[in-house]
Amino acid sequence: MQLVCVNPTCGFRVGERYFAEKERFHRFVCPVCNAPVKVVADDTDDELADCVLDRATGLVKPPPGGGALMQVSIAAATAAVNYDILSSAIFRTDGRPRRIVAAGLAGSAAALDTIIRLMVGSNQVATMYNTSTGAPNRDDMFRVGETVPANTPIHAYVVDAPSTNPINMALDLV
Ligand SMILES: [Zn+2]
Repeated sequence: MQLVCVNPTCGFRVGERYFAEKERFHRFVCPVCNAPVKVVADDTDDELADCVLDRATGLVKPPPGGGALMQVSIAAATAAVNYDILSSAIFRTDGRPRRIVAAGLAGSAAALDTIIRLMVGSNQVATMYNTSTGAPNRDDMFRVGETVPANTPIHAYVVDAPSTNPINMALDLV
């Protein structure tokens, strides 16, 4: 995301953290021409109108509830005790702060035969049993509500290993 001045002749364009880091400027006001700024996709003028400009912090927030649902599926043969089933997930670490809204675990051969320890960095935030076989659906999602600091990995270590079928985890991240 970037911030651009709404004045088409101004040309002011900065990164999304500009006003959070430049505290001397009025937040979300163009320092060149005093027009408001808007949020756009990187290197475009495509406005991301649902983003929230947080004047208290100067940060740009994704739309409320506009997060990402991420899933992993790991073969039972791989998911041995102490294995991190998120170890190769591209979303395990991000350069911006996030929040785990909810998490779900399903799969293996029978409900409740697998246990995962969900961690943010070195802090445990949940212990999860697989609530069903197959893939997690909305009834398998538990509220977590845990903050994930920037550059801090999310881990999901196997405590009791799945058998036969893959173990599948879904994370609702914002
Ligand atoms: Zn301007």
